[in-house]
Amino acid sequence: METTDVLVVGAGPAGSTAAARLAARGHRVLVVEEHGRVGQPVQCAGLVSQRVLDLAGSTAMVRAPVRGATVFGPSLRSIGFRADAPRAFAIDRAALDVHLADRAAHAGAELRTATRFDGLTGPANGLAIARLTGPDDRTTEVGARLVVGADGVGSAVARAFRLRRPVEILPAFEAEFAATPGDPADVEVYLGRQFAPGLFGWWIPDGFGGARIGVAADADGTPAREYYRRLVGHLERRFGRPLPRPTSYVASGIPIGNVPRTHGPRVLLVGDAAAQVKPLSGGGIFTGMRCAEIAAGVADAALRADTLGADALAAYERAWRAELGEEFRRAQYLRRVFARLSDAELDAVIDALRGGKLAATIVAFGDIDFPSHVARELLRESPSLLRLLPKALGAWWGGDAYRAPDVAPGPRRK
Ligand SMILES: Cc1cc2nc3c(=O)[nH]c(=O)nc-3n(C[C@H](O)[C@H](O)[C@H](O)COP(=O)(O)OP(=O)(O)OC[C@H]3O[C@@H](n4cnc5c(N)ncnc54)[C@H](O)[C@@H]3O)c2cc1C
Repeated sequence: METTDVLVVGAGPAGSTAAARLAARGHRVLVVEEHGRVGQPVQCAGLVSQRVLDLAGSTAMVRAPVRGATVFGPSLRSIGFRADAPRAFAIDRAALDVHLADRAAHAGAELRTATRFDGLTGPANGLAIARLTGPDDRTTEVGARLVVGADGVGSAVARAFRLRRPVEILPAFEAEFAATPGDPADVEVYLGRQFAPGLFGWWIPDGFGGARIGVAADADGTPAREYYRRLVGHLERRFGRPLPRPTSYVASGIPIGNVPRTHGPRVLLVGDAAAQVKPLSGGGIFTGMRCAEIAAGVADAALRADTLGADALAAYERAWRAELGEEFRRAQYLRRVFARLSDAELDAVIDALRGGKLAATIVAFGDIDFPSHVARELLRESPSLLRLLPKALGAWWGGDAYRAPDVAPGPRRK
């Protein structure tokens, strides 16, 4: 039977980041990806922060810098923010995945596409035995000292290792348009029950005159595609002309919530498989890649010491939660409050934000990776905003000591 030190399941941003780091440290790494081409099909709007480019070590996939955002309330009154420097980047998401997989291969990882992880046939001789189905439906077994589950929202690795995933899967639907009107340096966000109850709709420029238009919405029985249709209808009215036929569609799910355990004997979960997704935006590229780096550090030490039990691997759980757990908790709380707001209350929040200094605060403190920072600043500055929101929010927000994550969170109040 073939053996390896590490079997990484999934060649998305999280899997390829873990694979590159572990291969660079001299471990034998096998990456299996069920699709025939890395990065395809694209299931992402491709809006990322500078941190993602730093973690990727490349800007080659950037299509357009984004300097501003316009947020539309349910009644379509809006508030706009503009920064002097880019605050985010619209990227070619497939190119990011290919770049990261190439980097892993250059570091020495072996990549097998069109190869699916189907489950475990058991532990044997101190290895986790994985059953893989390759091209031509050929089934093989691979013995791995450690399995890294980077296989996204429907993680087969989590199921195989019996790691519970009681997270909310938010349905999302998105289409790519080759040409649309709109500001190519600006993103648009649409709030409200009509467009996207529970999260938001988006219009994100693609850097070539087109855009990605999508929604992520609470599963209330109405398909996300229906909310998407409403958003497109609204955009057509706003632009005064029909949008062209989309070039591609994405229907997927975004995992939001807390997975109780992201490790076990001989296994680590990273990225969407571990629900390492920002609850207020559904973005998971930065958080997944960062947690994959942390996972690789812990896995490297555990492989060297040959201590791959749950106790040794718990260091991963502690480390990523110490860095990002507080932000996830705050953002999850804010999202729950946000999801309960009526359309009238959302409009009132937009109106309150339009007043005076608050837009400037958002520009100064806005950080797509750590959105709770700006929320905190806004609540501090605006008693009128606090009055609009449930009392619990103010009390909870004010009471807890703020802990900064290790990674640079963006500008802070002096
Ligand atoms: C519509 C939409 C828009 C989004 N927009 C953004 C955005 O703008 N910015 C942002 O930061 N995030 C965004 N996200 C979230 C982001 O796409 C994910 O958080 C990110 O892709 C997670 O990376 P990952 O490596 O954990 O998983 P994935 O990127 O999902 O990669 C998992 C890989 O595992 C493979 N795989 C799955 N099962 C198996 C198996 N059994 N065997 C072998 N291979 C397997 C899959 O084919 C896939 O390649 C969006 C998500 C959606 C749905």
